[in-house]
Amino acid sequence: MPTIDDFTRPKELIPPLIDDMGRSIREWVDDRYMPIRRKIDEDWAEHKLVRPLLKEIMVDFGLNRTVWPVDVGGLDISSLGVTGVGTVRIFEELGRADSGFAVACACSLWPAIPITQLPHRNMELCNEFGPRYCGDELYMGCYAMTEPESGADIENIGRMHGRTIRTTAKRSGQEWVINGHKQWPTNSGKVADLFCVLCITDEGKDEEGLRLIYVPADAKGVSVGPAYHKAGMAADMSTDIYFDDVHVPLRYNAQPVEWTVKCFNEIVTMGNLGTAAFSLGVLKNTYEIIKKYTSERVVAGKPLKEHSMNAVILAELAIAIEAASTYSYTVAHMVDAPDVYGPPWSQEIVAKTRACSMFVSDMAVNHTGRVMELMGSYGYTREGDIEKHWRDSKMLQLWLGGKQLDLMEVARYFYECETL
Ligand SMILES: Cc1cc2nc3c(=O)[nH]c(=O)nc-3n(C[C@H](O)[C@H](O)[C@H](O)COP(=O)(O)OP(=O)(O)OC[C@H]3O[C@@H](n4cnc5c(N)ncnc54)[C@H](O)[C@@H]3O)c2cc1C
Repeated sequence: MPTIDDFTRPKELIPPLIDDMGRSIREWVDDRYMPIRRKIDEDWAEHKLVRPLLKEIMVDFGLNRTVWPVDVGGLDISSLGVTGVGTVRIFEELGRADSGFAVACACSLWPAIPITQLPHRNMELCNEFGPRYCGDELYMGCYAMTEPESGADIENIGRMHGRTIRTTAKRSGQEWVINGHKQWPTNSGKVADLFCVLCITDEGKDEEGLRLIYVPADAKGVSVGPAYHKAGMAADMSTDIYFDDVHVPLRYNAQPVEWTVKCFNEIVTMGNLGTAAFSLGVLKNTYEIIKKYTSERVVAGKPLKEHSMNAVILAELAIAIEAASTYSYTVAHMVDAPDVYGPPWSQEIVAKTRACSMFVSDMAVNHTGRVMELMGSYGYTREGDIEKHWRDSKMLQLWLGGKQLDLMEVARYFYECETL
C-alpha cells in the first residue's frame, strides 16, 4: 500500500545519518506532536504547550546541535556537505506535523549560519554561543531583519541596498550601541535567547554599512511586545522587538564587511530551502489525510476516491508531491555542491532556491484548498485537520519578501533585468 514514503525522494543524495534523523523525527511527530496538534492553535499567546515540545526536539533530540562545530558540542553537518539536503529531509518531517512549529525550529538555527557555515566560520563566536545552543537547556535563536517599513525592501538587498533599515549600530569604544525596532521575526517575544540583528552602521555607504550583530535577549535595553494573533502558524511566535541603547561587544559582529551581504544571501537561500521543505511536509500530510478520508467517505454509493472527478484532484495532488519532492532535493543538493554550482550566496542559487520555494509553497496553498473541497464541510472544521494546513500554508508564500520578490529575483537572474 503506497504511503508518503513512496513519493520520489532521491535516496542517493541523502546520507544514512540524515535519513535516520528524518525517520526519528517522524516517530517523534506521530508520538508526541500529532496527538495535541489541534491544541497548539490555541497556544499562540503563551506557548505553554509549544515550549516543552521545542525542548524535546531542539535539545533532547539535538536539532539545535546540528550546525555547530564538533569542538563546541555540535554535529557539524556543514562539514559533511549536507546542510541543504539535511534541511529538506528534516524539515519536511516537521512541516508534515505543523509548518509553524517547523519554522520555529528552523529559525532557531538561522542566526547560526553566519558564524557556523564553512568557509566563513567564526570560531570565536562559535565558542561563545555554541555551547549554549548545544547544552541541556532550551536555547533559541531569532533572526531579526524585518522592520515596520517594508520588510520586502530589506530583503530586496540587491536593489534597495539596505537603505530603508532604521535599526542602527554605532561604535562606542569596544562596543556597539544598538537602537531600533524589528517586527515579526520567528521566535520573537519571550521565545528567543539570542537575536541576530541586521543593523545599519555609519561605517560605509549602503551594503558596506550593514552588519549582522548578535544581541542576547537579556541584554539591558532589549524589550519585546505581546504575540501577534495571526491566522495560523501558532507555534511560531511573532512580536515587536525594541532595542533601546543596547550595548554589546564589538566581537558580536558576525562577519567582516566583505562577508555580511554574502551571509545575508546565504540566510535567504537556506530560508527558501526551509520553506520548500515545510511546504513539502504540508503536501505529504495533506495526502495522508485525504487518502484516508476519500477511502472511507461514501457518496453516491461508492468511496469518494472512486469517482473520476475526485480522482483527478487526488492524482494532481500526487503529481504535485512528486514534482515538489524532486525539485526540493535537487536544488538542496546544488546548495551542497558549491564547487559545481557556485556558493549559496550567489545570485543564481538565491534565484533558484526562491523559484523552488515559490513553486512548492504555491502547491501547498493550492492543494490544501482543493482537498478541502473534497471533504465538504468537514474539511472546514478543526477536526478535519486540513484547514490548519490551509491557514498555515498561506504564510509560506508571504515571508522573505513574498511572491513578488521571489518572482523578481528569478526574472533578474534568468532575464538579466537591470531596472526591476
Ligand atoms: C509567521 C511569520 C514569520 C516571519 N519570520 C520572520 C523572521 O524570522 N525574521 C524576519 O526578519 N522577518 C520575519 N517575518 C516577516 C516577513 O519576512 C515579512 O513580513 C515579509 O518579508 C514581507 O514584509 P512586509 O510584511 O513588510 O510586506 P511589504 O514589504 O510591505 O510588502 C507588501 C507587498 O509588496 C510586495 N513587494 C515587495 N517588493 C516589491 C516590489 N519591488 N515591487 C512590487 N511589489 C513588491 C510584497 O511581495 C508584498 O506582496 C515573518 C513574518 C511572519 C508572518
